[in-house]
Amino acid sequence: MEFDYIIVGAGSAGCVLADRLSRNPNTKVLVIEAGGSDARFWIKVPLGYAFTFSDPRVNWRYEAQADRGLKGRKAYWPRGRVVGGSNSINAMAYVRGLAHDFDDWEAAGATGWNWDSVRQTYGRVESHADNDGGGPLRVSDLSQQMQPFSAHFLAAAAELGWPVRADMNADSIEGLSYFRSTVKGGRRWSAADAFLRPALRRGNVELVKNALVERLEITNGQATGICYRLGDQQITAKARAEMIVCGGDKLAAIAAALGAWTCKAAEIARHCGCQRSGPGRGRPARSPCDLASVLGNRTDTQQHPGSQGRASPRRDAVSADPSRPVECSGQSGGRFCAF
Ligand SMILES: Cc1cc2nc3c(=O)[nH]c(=O)nc-3n(C[C@H](O)[C@H](O)[C@H](O)COP(=O)(O)OP(=O)(O)OC[C@H]3O[C@@H](n4cnc5c(N)ncnc54)[C@H](O)[C@@H]3O)c2cc1C
Repeated sequence: MEFDYIIVGAGSAGCVLADRLSRNPNTKVLVIEAGGSDARFWIKVPLGYAFTFSDPRVNWRYEAQADRGLKGRKAYWPRGRVVGGSNSINAMAYVRGLAHDFDDWEAAGATGWNWDSVRQTYGRVESHADNDGGGPLRVSDLSQQMQPFSAHFLAAAAELGWPVRADMNADSIEGLSYFRSTVKGGRRWSAADAFLRPALRRGNVELVKNALVERLEITNGQATGICYRLGDQQITAKARAEMIVCGGDKLAAIAAALGAWTCKAAEIARHCGCQRSGPGRGRPARSPCDLASVLGNRTDTQQHPGSQGRASPRRDAVSADPSRPVECSGQSGGRFCAF
């Protein structure tokens, strides 16, 4: 089998890429996903988050290594194993990245990723009920339907002098707010709904579900193909133009544990049990930690230094490797949200 592009993982990134790459009708795209269909009641119904959080049919259910900062306990690390990836099981909170992070990113060499460019992309991608942008990603303001507790919580924060914002994605970053949700008509509106399904309707994208990529073929420094398992079949596919590996946090965590933003693809491949046929380099993104389970674990392990009665927004580290705790990028947080 030969394609122009092969995308490993039909998660948030894979769905967006399938959409962008298939806009050229002459391009053939293969998307390989280890999990199955997202046509499940508890995925579509937002409340189902509570069930998919630990359902092995749609969740890899990772466990981090024992962490000194958590008194040696292991944090539970849910990740989607289903069409739509973690985006099919996440909490649907829609929070844009922070402007200065993008500007820093460009300053560090990522040309074109400054906030002005990225803000325009957000504008094109989103659509809102109050200011319809016309983009495929539906973002809803559900603050009127939230638990009364949330309103009391925000009122209490305002009383203590914290800024309470109407829109968490507005330019000011300090403060508390309800978050907007990727929900449409009362149902989860995932990356698969917004990007993958329209791409599949074009006819030049093939999605293979329940297929585990086991090996990347790397020839002369280029990833040229994959070998994946489908049932008891071992299948090889070749990419004429590019291979894009966006299998989520497992790869990113391994890369972070290796201690670099840029790791040798060979090393990553070795840690994943992949085979290689030549040297190469990859650029995995750093993995975010699961804040919810860290907070759940921190009651007897962390103090708020200098908090003086005010919770100080900070994140903690979760290690991906027992011998090397991975520091999560927590310097930019100034937004707290109410569910
Ligand atoms: C429980 C939970 C709640 C969250 N809540 C929020 C939230 O409210 N707001 C927010 O912005 N973010 C939230 N996130 C984070 C967000 O969903 C993820 O950061 C994002 O979806 C990651 O996108 P990705 O494309 O990198 O990976 P994923 O979306 O995880 O996609 C990776 C895909 O690759 C597949 N895959 C992996 N390995 C292989 C292989 N070898 N072969 C084939 N396929 C493979 C996986 O099955 C998966 O489908 C949450 C995440 C979780 C798990």
